[in-house]
Amino acid sequence: MKDAPMAMAATHQPQVLVAGAGPAGLVAGIALARYGIGVLVVEKRAAISTLSRALVISTRNMEILRAWGLEAAVRAGAAEVEPCGWVTSTLASGEGVEIPLGYPTTAEAAAVSPTRPAWAPQDHLEPLLLEQLRSLPSAQVRFDAELIGIEQDDDGVRAVVGDRASGDTQYVCAEFVIGADGAPSAVRALLGIRLEGPDDLAEYHGIQFSAPLTGLLGARRYGINVVTHPDAAAVIAPRGLGDRWTLAREWRPGQVRLVDATENDIARLISTAAGVPHVRPRIERVSAFSFAAQLADRYRVGRGFVVGDAAHRMTPRGGTGMNTAIQDAYDLGWKLAWVLRGWAGPDLLASYEAERRPAGRHNVERSGDPGGARRTAVAELPHDLNGRLAHHWLLRRGCAVSTLDLLEDGLTLLAADDEAGWDAAAATLDTRVPVAAHPVGTSVAAGIGVASGGAVLLRPDGQLAANWPDPTVPPAAELAHLGLR
Ligand SMILES: Cc1cc2nc3c(=O)[nH]c(=O)nc-3n(C[C@H](O)[C@H](O)[C@H](O)COP(=O)(O)OP(=O)(O)OC[C@H]3O[C@@H](n4cnc5c(N)ncnc54)[C@H](O)[C@@H]3O)c2cc1C
Repeated sequence: MKDAPMAMAATHQPQVLVAGAGPAGLVAGIALARYGIGVLVVEKRAAISTLSRALVISTRNMEILRAWGLEAAVRAGAAEVEPCGWVTSTLASGEGVEIPLGYPTTAEAAAVSPTRPAWAPQDHLEPLLLEQLRSLPSAQVRFDAELIGIEQDDDGVRAVVGDRASGDTQYVCAEFVIGADGAPSAVRALLGIRLEGPDDLAEYHGIQFSAPLTGLLGARRYGINVVTHPDAAAVIAPRGLGDRWTLAREWRPGQVRLVDATENDIARLISTAAGVPHVRPRIERVSAFSFAAQLADRYRVGRGFVVGDAAHRMTPRGGTGMNTAIQDAYDLGWKLAWVLRGWAGPDLLASYEAERRPAGRHNVERSGDPGGARRTAVAELPHDLNGRLAHHWLLRRGCAVSTLDLLEDGLTLLAADDEAGWDAAAATLDTRVPVAAHPVGTSVAAGIGVASGGAVLLRPDGQLAANWPDPTVPPAAELAHLGLR
């Protein structure tokens, strides 16, 4: 930011300023505001996007949404499909082969998680996230508000936010700024962060439409249909409930670009792919996008961070763009909250890039691999769950709860029982972060890797903070990486 007067009074002083109200910005805002952190989310559009884009929410992200009480609302807009692909000559052919997409079946998910992926489109999820964010007292959301400048020093960040409706400019002072402003990210550019990798892997076109196609598919419905008909090769996927669909295909030289096609051309293409004549689709939108597989060279500069598409661009192969964005934002959100609550020192923030950039790299590389979509759940689910606490069911006051349900906002201590005095031991940890101790019984304790007579300390995201074998010896060295205060 070149011209912002340093001394100018700020009209807003949130603790954290978030640019962008896509999935990453909304999740970052919720993760922060659930800790009572003052957060302002500014979004340059007049409203959230109505594009369906991402069509599937991963197992781990459904765990996060479940913990926030959003699972039922998300599933209410999800298509019930086999979480795999169907390669077929036309939708009506009745013949084809199943291909994996890296997502677990219901049975596979039940073995490792209290939930499972949801085939719910982004335009169903985003309003739910926005509603939850707005319900949190310490959060504010402003539309028509574009972040256009940032300046930072040891004390904080000063940002310039333009009001696109009135043309006015305002200054916002915050302790941290998060760039959740998508692939063209102004925050990334202002922080001097570069994207590495190709941005021209292919030119794709997508059509969002409604048409009565569900009845063509028989009893088994799939997350995506890969249609191989020579005149209509394309991917056709349901967009949540009803007969809402998306068709996407790579443009090849000699073909009409779908963005230039007439409604009749598009109707003919959809009819051919469907394998029935005279389908009359209601076309909502036709758009073009380029395939990019890029990763930011850094995720942080000082008090500024990038999350989601601002930090990485992925092709839709594997459906990881939004899913990675949500996990980035959730991770950074609780870490910033711990620092701002005074529970951890600023060193904790270094773990955001250290943990999330390798995850971004994996998904960028997968999305750049032409066969990257067709991976098994055995190969990809561990990347999604990312080594968090193992899920086991246990009884609490007569109700079945998951071990993941025991995780609290601070540290969570899990031990087989309280005979060794773990409640008292937790109180001896010399830290401001709250520590909640839960007995889980011998068999669950063994299942989650607790050594006999010992305990584990877990972060709010279910990652191991420390093994604690002996209640009389606090695991100070193991906890050092969290910078606890
Ligand atoms: C056709 C298509 C299909 C896809 N399919 C999948 C899929 O199946 N699975 C999957 O996981 N992902 C998929 N994706 C990717 C997914 O849509 C993105 O990864 C996801 O939207 C990223 O979320 P985000 O919040 O980081 O960015 P965005 O959703 O791009 O949100 C960024 C927001 O920031 C706002 N903004 C920009 N600049 C500023 C500024 N200066 N100030 C304030 N606000 C600003 C923008 O208006 C926007 O609302 C798909 C994408 C496309 C295009």
